[in-house]
Amino acid sequence: MIPFLDLKKVNQQYQDELKAACNRVIDSGWYIGGQELEKFEQNFATYCGTKFAIGVANGLDALILVLRAWKELGKLQDGDEVIVPANTYIASILAITANHLKAVLVEPDVNSLNISVEALEQAITPHTKAILAVHLYGQLADMPKIMQLAQQHHLLVLEDSAQAHGAEMEGIRAGHWGDASGFSFYPGKNLGALGDAGAVTTNDAELASMLKALRNYGSHEKYKNLVPGVNSRLDEIQAAMLDVKLKYLDQETTHRRQIANLYLSKIKNPYITLPLSQIDALEYKQHVWHLFVLQTEYRDQLQQYLLENGVQTLIHYPIPPHKQQAYKEWNDLSFPVTERIHQQVLSLPMGSTLTLDEAEKVIELCNSFRPQGVH
Ligand SMILES: *Cc1c(COP(=O)(O)O)cnc(C)c1O
Repeated sequence: MIPFLDLKKVNQQYQDELKAACNRVIDSGWYIGGQELEKFEQNFATYCGTKFAIGVANGLDALILVLRAWKELGKLQDGDEVIVPANTYIASILAITANHLKAVLVEPDVNSLNISVEALEQAITPHTKAILAVHLYGQLADMPKIMQLAQQHHLLVLEDSAQAHGAEMEGIRAGHWGDASGFSFYPGKNLGALGDAGAVTTNDAELASMLKALRNYGSHEKYKNLVPGVNSRLDEIQAAMLDVKLKYLDQETTHRRQIANLYLSKIKNPYITLPLSQIDALEYKQHVWHLFVLQTEYRDQLQQYLLENGVQTLIHYPIPPHKQQAYKEWNDLSFPVTERIHQQVLSLPMGSTLTLDEAEKVIELCNSFRPQGVH
C-alpha cells in the first residue's frame, strides 16, 4: 500500500535529533514558556521574514487569537464583516464566527482554487473590515492584488498559512504578506509537530504583545490580567521538535516539488484535470504542495480504483463549510464553484518520504483509469 502520508517515516528521518531534543527538555525541568519556545519563535520569525512569531496551541487558535487581539485593540468590533473563501477548511471560518464577526463567503478562482480577487472586490461593503486570505493546498493566494485592495479599502489582512509554510511570491513568504498570519503545526502539515501546535507571525509589535497576553490568560505580567485571555500555549517539547524539523523544511519542500513536477508532467488522462496555473508556480516558488489536488467528475470511482490497486488518497474536503450542519443558517446559500470543487477533488499521496518510484506507480494508475458507464 502506498499511504497518503506516512508520518512515522517522516519523523524517523530525524529521530536521533528529535530524541536528543526531547531528552534535553525532560532534563531541563522546564516545560512551558522557556528557552525552547523562544528559540523556535525566533527561528520561525526569521524563516518567514517577520519581526515576531508567537507560539500558540494550534492553528485554529492562531487565527482566533489574532481576530480577538484586533478586537481588544479596537480595530474590529462585533458584527464587522470578514471576507473569506467559501471553499476553505472550516477552521478559517470558525475563527471568524467564534469572535462574533460576520463571515462573508466568496467563491474561489476556478484555476488556483484560491480566493477570486474579483469576487473579493465585489463583496466589499462599508461593513467590511478584514480579509482572511487562505493559501489553500500550499499555494499563495494572489497576495499582491489582495494587499492592494486592502490598502484601497483600509482593510486588515489575516493570512491562513496553515498549509503554506515557506510558500513564496516576489521573494516574500507566507506569513509576511498580511498584517498577521496564522500557522498550524498539526503533525500532517508541511512543518508538523508531534502533537498540536501553532503560531502567529507579524511585524506589529503591539499585536505581538497582545497575543502574548491573550495566549496566557490575558496576562502580560504574572498575576496581572489586562484582558480576558485563554490558555493557548506552545509547549517546550513541541517547540523543541519543531525547531529540529524547521531546519529540514526547505529540503522537504524541494522533494514535494519534485513529486508534484512528476505528477504534473506525466499524468495524462482526459478524465482528470490537474492543478492549473501551477507550472508557473513551480518556478516562482509560490507552491509548497501541502496537497496535490486533482479534479475529476469520476472522483469516487477514481479513488476506489486507486485504493483497489494499493494507493491511498484523501478528499480535501468532502463537504463545504456552508453545507455543514454547524452552519445551518448558510445551508441554502449557493456557491456553485465551491460545491463542484468539493464533489470533484481528490488528493494524491504527497510528502517528504514518498519515493519517486511510488509516485511513478500512482501516475501509471491515474493514466490507466477509465470511468465505468462512459463511452
Ligand atoms: C489545519 C488547518 C487549520 C487549523 O489548524 P489546527 O492546528 O488543526 O487547528 C486552519 N486552516 C487551514 C487551512 C488548515 O489546513
